[in-house]
Amino acid sequence: MIVEQIWTGNAYRNFNYLISCPETGDALAIDPLDFKKCLAVANDRGWTITQILNTHEHGDHTGGNRGLVKATGAKIIAHKNARGRIPDVHRGVGAGDVIKVGNSVELECLDTPGHTMCHICLLSHTDQPGLFSGDTLFNAGAGNCHNGGHPNELFETFDNQLGELRDDTLIYPGHDYLLNNLAFTLDREPDNELAQQMIREYEGQDPAAALVTSMAQERDINTFFRLQSPTIVAKLAEEFPQMGDKPDARAVFLKLRELRNSW
Ligand SMILES: [Zn+2]
Repeated sequence: MIVEQIWTGNAYRNFNYLISCPETGDALAIDPLDFKKCLAVANDRGWTITQILNTHEHGDHTGGNRGLVKATGAKIIAHKNARGRIPDVHRGVGAGDVIKVGNSVELECLDTPGHTMCHICLLSHTDQPGLFSGDTLFNAGAGNCHNGGHPNELFETFDNQLGELRDDTLIYPGHDYLLNNLAFTLDREPDNELAQQMIREYEGQDPAAALVTSMAQERDINTFFRLQSPTIVAKLAEEFPQMGDKPDARAVFLKLRELRNSW
């Protein structure tokens, strides 16, 4: 499996992806908003884009479909419940479905509601797994829920699915929000030394050559995986006495998600 992370350079800071089979040159485009950049990369590598996967229905993820289909004839894949929200879906997928690219790449669909209610993450079946996480999981952060999502479901997705991923899983999100998210982590957990170190190291990083984090790193720097952190819990308990001294993981997650909205 060859992964190309494509920085769009737009105001929303989208990442697009190409995943290609080294044996056949077939490629899958994930959320190819900047379809011209995706096409240019594919042409440069000698790849043929045969499939498009939309992680979810938002326009900054689907807006390149039409142009890319016109140029390549690629088939669109999306969550089965996104039919009707995304035009011309050829294949609707759900939890456990596998997308093949060429003859050597297998990508497993995870049904990950929360950011929207028809969101797919892809987990590669490779020696070192990769997670293409759309707007569900960002580097050091979590997706918002205010355009068709629900914080409770997002918590369930983090708790039951993402939190179970192997430490060495590489994270490929739909946007570059690393620095803002690290700043939020430090707002909630000022003594997080790894987050302090990372924000210094990656300030001014070129998103065209962005850091790819692992799940092990996310467990250290992503507030939404750190619901048991004594600093985070103590700070919340102090600021919101109605939460009590020992809020459960769900209550902590929901409060953090709410605070992140207005931060
Ligand atoms: Zn979105």
